[in-house]
This record gives sequence, C-alpha cells and structure tokens, in this order.
Amino acid sequence: MRNYNATKRILVTGGAGFLGSHLCERLIADGHDVLCVDNFFTGNKRNVAHLLDHPRFELMRHDVTFPLYVEVNEIYNLACPASPVHYQYDPVQTTKTSVHGAINMLGLAKRVGAKILQASTSEVYGDPEVHPQPESYWGKVNPIGPRSCYDEGKRCAETLFFDYHRQHKLRIKVVRIFNTYGPRMHPNDGRVVSNFIMQALRGEDITIYGDGSQTRSFCYVDDLIEAMVRAMDTPDDFTGPVNIGNPGEFSMLALAEKVIALTGSQSKLAWRPLPADDPKQRRPDISLAREALKGWAPEVDLATGLDRTIAYFKGVAQPPIEPVISLRPAADVTRPVH
Ligand code: NAD
Ligand code: UDP
Ligand code: UDP
Repeated sequence: MRNYNATKRILVTGGAGFLGSHLCERLIADGHDVLCVDNFFTGNKRNVAHLLDHPRFELMRHDVTFPLYVEVNEIYNLACPASPVHYQYDPVQTTKTSVHGAINMLGLAKRVGAKILQASTSEVYGDPEVHPQPESYWGKVNPIGPRSCYDEGKRCAETLFFDYHRQHKLRIKVVRIFNTYGPRMHPNDGRVVSNFIMQALRGEDITIYGDGSQTRSFCYVDDLIEAMVRAMDTPDDFTGPVNIGNPGEFSMLALAEKVIALTGSQSKLAWRPLPADDPKQRRPDISLAREALKGWAPEVDLATGLDRTIAYFKGVAQPPIEPVISLRPAADVTRPVH
C-alpha cells in the first residue's frame, strides 16, 4: 500500500521534454504529486499525454524566465533546450532560460524551503583536455562561440546554485548529465542518436560531421532517471556536482555502423563539416556517482538501448516525414518542427 506520509509535491520544470517526461512518469509511479511546468519550446504535450488523467499529475504552461509561485517540497530544474540545433535557434533565450530560470527556481526553493536539483551538463567541461572528465576538472569552454549560450548558461546556473547554497543555506543537488538517449527524443532535434536512427529508417544518408572520430558516451534514459532520483535523495550535505552518464565511449563512426546494423538499413555514410567548437572527446568519470548514489551504475548497454529507441522512432518515422533541421548559423535557423 502507498505510504501517504512519503508523498511529496514535486515540481519538474521542462517536464514535457524528453528526460522530463520520463522523470514525471517515475515520480508518479513512486507515489508523488507531480507538477510539470513547460513552455513547450522543444517539449510536447504528447510526451505526457498518458499522465494527464492521473489524479496526482498536473501540467502547467509556463516559461521559467518568469517568476512562479507554487507550493512544493522538491524541484527538478530541467527546463532548457538541450540539442545544439534547438539551443542555437534563439541563443539569448537559451541563456535567459538557464540563468533567469535558475534564479526564479532558486527564489521559489528559498521561499518554500524546497530541495532543488539542477540538470547541468557535461558541456560545462567544454572541449576537455582531461579525459575521462572528473567533477574536479574546471573545463575548457569558449565563452563567445555558438555553443556558449548553452555551456556558459549552464555554468552560471551552477554558480547560482552554489551561491544560494552558501548564502541562503538552500539544499541543492547539481547533476552533470552526459549524452542521454531513448524514446521520446525529438525526432528532428539534430542530436546524433535521433539523426542517425531517423536517417537509417528513412534510407537517407547518415551524416557524419567531421571525420567521425570524435567520441561521446551514451547513457540510456532509464539509467539516467534512476541516478537523478537517487541524487535528489542523497543526504543534505551532498550537493554534487556529480557526473551521471554511461562511461562506454564510442566514435560517431562506430555509432553510425551500429545504427545501420541494428536497423538493417541500406543507408550510406555522408561526410559534413564539423560544427564550431564541437568537443573531440567525452567520457564521464562516474566514481563519485557510484559512491554517493548508493552503488548506482548504468545497466543498459548501447545495443539494447538503441534497439528500444529504434522501436520508438519506427512509430514516428511514418509519413508524412518532417525535414530534419540542419545545423546552421543562428540567424538562419528555422523554428523547430513539432
Ligand atoms: P528537451 O529539449 O527534450 O527538454 C527540455 C524541456 O524544457 C522541453 O520540454 C522544453 O519545452 C522546456 N523548456 C525550454 N525552455 C523553457 C522555458 N524557458 N520555460 C519552461 N520550459 C522550457 O531536452 P532533454 O534532453 O530532455 O533535456 C532536459 C534537461 O537535461 C535540459 O536542462 C538539458 O540541458 C539537460 N541535459 C540533457 C542531456 C541529454 O543528453 N539529453 C545532456 C545534458 C544535460
Ligand atoms: N521567485 C519566484 N517564486 C517564488 C519566489 C521567488 O519565482 O516563490 C523569483 C522572483 O522573481 C525573485 C527570484 O525568484 O526575483 C529570486 O528570489 P530571491 O528571493 O532570491 O531574490 P529577490 O529578487 O526576491 O530579492
Ligand atoms: N553529429 C554527427 N552527425 C549528426 C549529428 C551529430 O556526426 O547528424 C556529431 C556531432 O558533431 C557531435 C556528436 O555527433 O560530435 C554528438 O552530437 P550531439 O548534437 O548529439 O551532442 P553534443 O555535441 O551536444 O554532445
């Protein structure tokens, strides 16, 4: 039977997005009341449609750059476009979402005494010179490039979290998320996993940016959500930052070959220019997560996770097919297609 004393009122910002929708689902399953706040920039009501009739779920359209007055016990702050195509579409809004959004959510947490978790990113390490990346590494980030609105916005949000912690004694958790994939990724978000799978399913060329030797470490969404929930439940003296991700590291060429094999596609590889400031390598050191998150470790390997993601994308790859947005200079980028 459900323990009603353990029921918390939890706010998830960006809750209608890819990760946010899985998190809402998990928190509802754990017996909590969930308030999902989203401005639907890259997220979609469809992602939480199955939760709308649930008595403990509530959806609110709201932009976190504006103040929000609600009463909650915990806040997961995920609101922010995450794919380079989407966050570079309106870079000023991206920085505002990270910075003003963090200030508002921290102000809210301060007023109601809520515990607050920030969805930070491996992008705080930039194009790293230390490999794999431990939390103690301060990163190598270009402050004025096309990725900076996201990277520096997230770095500033971390600063705000730690200053509210030191100055106002807020209970904070900062998790640095490494590339995560799975069902409900936006099919046109331009991220490598969604791009490759959609291209393979449509029999189009698989677009390799640069020579394809750059690496990423891909975590399946269920593993990531488990780590986030565990991070929120750590003792009050644990603030992070803590890396969460899967240390399995793959080149983009290896990923393309895996996707072609798993889909049985006839697609060929096609080379495209490498976007500016694209990190050459990325792999999390997850020693701290293993220790602090009660022995957490990712369990889903890339082939299994890709299989599940391919099954999901088969459902959205049916005609009419929307064009995949390509990475272009900000002024020339069209609005994301839903
Ligand atoms: P996503 O784009 O699917 O989700 C982001 C959500 O935030 C969307 O629903 C979007 O509509 C919403 N949003 C954007 N701006 C908003 C605003 N101003 N007010 C309210 N809502 C707003 O991306 P995701 O992959 O689910 O990422 C979720 C969070 O995790 C982001 O903060 C992202 O930076 C972080 N993250 C994700 C990854 C990853 O690989 N998926 C890696 C590192 C960090
Ligand atoms: N805020 C909010 N909800 C609240 C409390 C505060 O959105 O319940 C916002 C408000 O816009 C405020 C910001 O959070 O400006 C920061 O709050 P804080 O108390 O830290 O500073 P203030 O600006 O109020 O002095
Ligand atoms: N990438 C690629 N082809 C694509 C999309 C992306 O080769 O169609 C590359 C991209 O240049 C980067 C890597 O894949 O090196 C991961 O890109 P993504 O946008 O998914 O994430 P991020 O760069 O933010 O880690």
